[in-house]
Amino acid sequence: MNTQGRPTRGAETGASNGDTITGNRGLMMEEPLIFEADTPGACGVDLAEPVTPDRRLGGLEREGSVGLPGLTEPQVVRHYTRLSQQNLGIDTTMYPLGSCTMKHNPRINEKLARLPGFASLHPMQPMSTVQGALALIDALADWLKRLTGMPAVAMTPGAGAHGELCGMMAIRAALEHHGQTGRTHVLVPESAHGTNPATAAALGFTVDRIPATDEGRVDLAAFKDRLDDGVAAIMLTNPNTCGLFEGDIVDIAEALHAAGGYFYCDGANFNAIVGRVRPGDLGIDAMHINLHKTFSTPHGGGGPGSGPVVLSEALAPFAPIPAIMHGTDGLRLAEQTEGETAHSLGRLKGFHGQMGMFVRALAYILSHGADGLRQAAGDAVLNANYLLARLGEELTAPFPGPCMHEVLFDDHFLKDTGVTTLDMAKALVDEGFHPMTMYFPLVVHGALLVEPTESESKATLDAFADTVLALARRAKAGDTEYFAGAPYLTPRRRLDETAAARKPILRWIPPTPESQAAE
Ligand SMILES: *Cc1c(COP(=O)(O)O)cnc(C)c1O
Repeated sequence: MNTQGRPTRGAETGASNGDTITGNRGLMMEEPLIFEADTPGACGVDLAEPVTPDRRLGGLEREGSVGLPGLTEPQVVRHYTRLSQQNLGIDTTMYPLGSCTMKHNPRINEKLARLPGFASLHPMQPMSTVQGALALIDALADWLKRLTGMPAVAMTPGAGAHGELCGMMAIRAALEHHGQTGRTHVLVPESAHGTNPATAAALGFTVDRIPATDEGRVDLAAFKDRLDDGVAAIMLTNPNTCGLFEGDIVDIAEALHAAGGYFYCDGANFNAIVGRVRPGDLGIDAMHINLHKTFSTPHGGGGPGSGPVVLSEALAPFAPIPAIMHGTDGLRLAEQTEGETAHSLGRLKGFHGQMGMFVRALAYILSHGADGLRQAAGDAVLNANYLLARLGEELTAPFPGPCMHEVLFDDHFLKDTGVTTLDMAKALVDEGFHPMTMYFPLVVHGALLVEPTESESKATLDAFADTVLALARRAKAGDTEYFAGAPYLTPRRRLDETAAARKPILRWIPPTPESQAAE
């Protein structure tokens, strides 16, 4: 045990895996918390003694140290480099997490985003000095409008969920503008991403679930039955989170519009259809685009998300500010709710959106061109269907194929083996693959949602498929004990994930000094 009560590797894994003297295993280093590495007084730089200023805080000055660990520069570099090596990541291995879409971060994006003219911009520079940046945002906006066939786009939302909020706020603003405040219900299919009902609920709408058919699509009859003048909108993902195209989408849009509702489409999976289907042709009123899922900007810890929202003619007047306007003397930002932006829903973000992500997304778009984007969508779908065909030998798919960009399996193939979806995922970690998404979507039992993406080669897909098939055979052969113990080769073995989520220890607490402990 270390000072925070975390078991060390040796204690967790037993002698067979943890019996080195150091706890290190070759390239895999046992790494303490950075606070535990504290060497009081150590510092990476020579700082001059500060001139003691006049005390002007009325006696509220800190007396003790701020409690940061003392570390040399090599210690800091090693600490973070070692931690970075304890993860399976897209730069080391295939990352088939579903509902996550593309994970490719082309290096040319990074190079362009670091150009000083973009990287050193300040959001409050005078408008005349940022014409290039405004032109870049405007060029990206133009691509997004063309690719979606939509007349307007709000560029400021900071991620997919923020885009949903933006689109639904535009819908609410439109309803209020037209005096339709009695429309308080939002319809959400069962397979929806959790952010959809959460967004609707956060805006005060009542969420009604729409059931799925046996084919994993929206039940059109149930949807039509539910339509009345209390319905504000539907929030539908297409392709949906079962990896399936909602073939009735045009009928859904027509019935909804006839009943006076707005169509919000969750466009997180736009990468599967970009260059092939224009959402504007399907009758959609608002759709967010995750630049980190369709246009190659980094996900999660790799960088901020970015969720521009395309809007139909009906919703365009309600778009948020700031908005880029074409003036006689160049581009400018409309920053107030007046004049042409009088009906705007207001401001969603401090400044103009995720500028660094706009640079990356446009770099990706321009380096691929329209034909390259179209091909990326096709390759993503082809790769998912290849895995559906290969893994279908041993795994069970709940819905008939073909699929779109991701392929969904349930845990039927593990029935009576004593092995669970979680066990399969843990065993995959030992094999050097990041697991697929597990237990989502909730509409199937023990879901395994696999999204290979467009950037994996056939050789990698085959290596992955061979591994998953071999594990499935091993489970069916009754080797339950093996699975119960996996993973064997990771820095930590099975963790109590429930306790980690429910009772997280987020603060480092210094160990009690020996003098006090002795008293
Ligand atoms: C990822 C995702 C979201 C949320 O996007 P964030 O950028 O993570 O906020 C919403 N819906 C679907 C279907 C998604 O896959």
